[in-house]
Amino acid sequence: MSVALDHDRPELAAIREHMIIGGKPWTEGDGDAIPVYDPARGVVIAHQLEAGPRQVNEAVKAARHAFEAPAWRDMLPVARERLLLRLADLVEQHGDELARLETLNNGKLLALSQGLEVGAGAQWLRYMAGWATKISGETLNVSIPFPPGVNYHAYTRPEPVGVVAAIVPWNFPLLMAIWKIAPAVATGCTVVLKPAEETPLTAIRLAELALEAGFPPGVVNVITGRGEVTGAALVAHPDVDKIAFTGSTEVGKLIGRQAVDDMKRVSLELGGKSPVIILDDCDIDLAIQGAAGAIFFNQGQVCTAGSRLFVQKGIYDRVVAGLADIASGMKLGSGLDPDTQIGPMISARHQKRVLDYIAIGKQEGARMLAGGAADEGEGYFVRPTVFAHAPAGARISREEIFGPVVVAGAFDTEEDAIACANDTQFGLGASIWSNDLTRVNRLVPRIRAGTVWVNTHNMLDPHMPFGGYKQSGIGREHGHAAIDMYLEKKSVCMAYPAAH
Ligand code: NAD
Repeated sequence: MSVALDHDRPELAAIREHMIIGGKPWTEGDGDAIPVYDPARGVVIAHQLEAGPRQVNEAVKAARHAFEAPAWRDMLPVARERLLLRLADLVEQHGDELARLETLNNGKLLALSQGLEVGAGAQWLRYMAGWATKISGETLNVSIPFPPGVNYHAYTRPEPVGVVAAIVPWNFPLLMAIWKIAPAVATGCTVVLKPAEETPLTAIRLAELALEAGFPPGVVNVITGRGEVTGAALVAHPDVDKIAFTGSTEVGKLIGRQAVDDMKRVSLELGGKSPVIILDDCDIDLAIQGAAGAIFFNQGQVCTAGSRLFVQKGIYDRVVAGLADIASGMKLGSGLDPDTQIGPMISARHQKRVLDYIAIGKQEGARMLAGGAADEGEGYFVRPTVFAHAPAGARISREEIFGPVVVAGAFDTEEDAIACANDTQFGLGASIWSNDLTRVNRLVPRIRAGTVWVNTHNMLDPHMPFGGYKQSGIGREHGHAAIDMYLEKKSVCMAYPAAH
């Protein structure tokens, strides 16, 4: 371990450098260990193993074995529910350690780690626990006419899809791990989870807590390593039945192609470039705060970040000036400091990517009203940045930057607003800010996005399906829709004599 154990800092004591395969710590990887950073200081806090094909095979074997084992296969739904509820309790009991560990490794504000990674994580576990006992098929009224004198009783049987390869990004590491594991195990699947190489630490702790909760060994496995090595080997493994992926559209397409080759089930939660549409009848102060929250929350490292702002002429100047003021006043710093409003980017590489986009925006001729330069010194910081007057087709308006960078533009009519909002390859989220229900109701059906918020942005609930239109993905997480993604539907057809 690269940092001294300090028991006043529970997050340091919670660092694990092994993987969890078949219910046991697995200490052997393939090749060199990979450093894990604290992005607020730019220092190494741990090392992770890299699973190569051999370790991936062990993990998939363990998940298959657990899937077939009577202890899991024959477990009553209510017992799976109880395990998930116990895991939710353990996540809360270890909430301080998990939240601090997440902030240390990811850089996000501690309040976000507490409220979302831990708080919402426990909420999602409990919600999905409830589904374990509510999965049902249908009785089918069939009309099969042959042979004469025979009747049929037909019904569907939902069955777990099998071994799930879950691959998640670094922006909400614990929550995303839970978003995959909870519906998978609620339906009776088993899981091999690969966290992002930037943020493996809370996922490993979650797998340990799952064992403590009583999940049989092999039901929840966590392997670590880079996407192109560990992730690729997991996706290619012939004994994986389903791939549940959250990440970039680019990698999602790769995985989707490979899944189709092998006919693996696949769900893809991908990138976005979500519009924030502010109509001139809105509560302007609320809308300004809302637009700032939509883009600067989690440093803009959010798939539904409101990175394209469209404001109706008439209030445009006031809204954009207000947003630039907020951006300029935000305090950068460590997520562990309660005064911090903007934490670091996840990595030096990502910081460079975001700064490169800011340079591109300037070259493209957009006007930068706030932000831009990274602070000097340690940590991977980028100032919250507001661009306006970007030329048509500008890359900063079209490509996902995944940082605290918003591009503002003005529109005239509702038709213009719709055209602007839909002028993107993505379709993950959108928000409308207005107090006029008639206008809102006219706009909502015409926005091509998986979630539309009104007078709010980025609000999620375990009962609300979440996913993308267009290149933002395939499938829906949360709610009943998520359960369906982990089930196969078997039709059963039984013949019996019509009369004796
Ligand atoms: P990424 O696609 O680079 O990586 C995501 C995960 O895939 C990581 O675990 C990575 O190791 C793995 N991976 C990378 N290459 C792989 C390969 N060839 N085979 C298998 N696995 C591979 O994305 P990122 O930079 O970690 O995350 C940011 C992206 O995630 C953004 O585009 C963001 O919009 C998206 N995202 C989407 C959602 C959503 O729900 N739609 C949520 C969060 C993030």
